[in-house]
Amino acid sequence: MEISNWSAPFGCEPSSIPFTYLGIPDGENMNKKNAWRLIIEKFHSKLSTWKVKALSFGGRVTLANAVLGNLPTYFMSIFVIPNGVLDTLEKIRRKFIWCREYNKKSIYWVKWDKIIAPKKVGGIGLGSIKATNISLLAKWMWRLKADESSMWSKVIRSIHNLEGRHWCVFANRSNTGVWKNIIKTRNRYMQYNIDPKEIVSWNSIDRCWESDIVRDGRFMVCLLRERIELAGYIVNDGPFAWDKLTPFKILCFIWRAKLGRIPSAVELKNRGIIIPNTMCGVCNSEEETCEHILLTCPVAKEIMDSILVWCEIRCDRFLSVDNMLLFISRWSKCKYKRRLLNAILCGALWFIWMDRNKRIFEKIPIVSANTWKE
Ligand SMILES: [Zn+2]
Repeated sequence: MEISNWSAPFGCEPSSIPFTYLGIPDGENMNKKNAWRLIIEKFHSKLSTWKVKALSFGGRVTLANAVLGNLPTYFMSIFVIPNGVLDTLEKIRRKFIWCREYNKKSIYWVKWDKIIAPKKVGGIGLGSIKATNISLLAKWMWRLKADESSMWSKVIRSIHNLEGRHWCVFANRSNTGVWKNIIKTRNRYMQYNIDPKEIVSWNSIDRCWESDIVRDGRFMVCLLRERIELAGYIVNDGPFAWDKLTPFKILCFIWRAKLGRIPSAVELKNRGIIIPNTMCGVCNSEEETCEHILLTCPVAKEIMDSILVWCEIRCDRFLSVDNMLLFISRWSKCKYKRRLLNAILCGALWFIWMDRNKRIFEKIPIVSANTWKE
């Protein structure tokens, strides 16, 4: 009653904790999974599986990346995501990329770490939610020093008694709140052999930032995120040329084909799918492996030979996708010509695969197409 009397003259309505201010929950304990239900629901709705059926593998990777890029960034830059929530969000992305129906079993063709790992080390570059979260939070540690004269910086210093202490590793234990949670993330950096003191290191003699994460006086979240991902997600498959001249969905397919992780009859059988006959359904002379479908089957050979003649290139037959990519990388001194040849030959493999995909379904009616169709 007293609250109502006080709030009435200001034209305000009394409310209770927790409440939402500027889209951010206030008074809610963000260490609890329940506080993140809104983000989890949004993730679910944006990455609904009906879209899976309309998109290629590359399209699904792009969409999963875009959702991470904009949806929870606001939350992620203020709160530490609890491990349980991180697992749930990653699970939604994983299911979106690999499962045609949410509650049904599906084949996870490539290890999740390889999907997350940066492109420069051979991954697909989807990016880790955990790395994004702690990189965004690290910016606050840096801003506490960079914005020394700002009000929020003075408030945090005063509450946590930071004068004379290293600002990025200390929080007053008796105070709860956002800053304490941000400081807690230092253990997460340690997992990746990164010292938080070093990433926001200030040289007081030369009056400049020593850290390679700060460029031209600006803290680069993307550089820290990449550093964490490079330390945490290791791929041993060698580099892969993600050239922008070739469509991303084709490159994603070639990336998988290079690893042998496409649904050929042999690979499906290796993963427990009942295949009555693993011989090639087109020529019936060899087992249907990834290399056979794309390069050594007579139909594929004929297409590739015609393209190479058209490009006026003489070379031995490619025996594997790796072999083809190596040839392209050494083919010409002119970078643009190499990029062009890459686009043509990768495009040809994509065409051969799309054509084969239809034939596989005709050949193996016993397997539900929805189980493994790409
Ligand atoms: Zn064949």
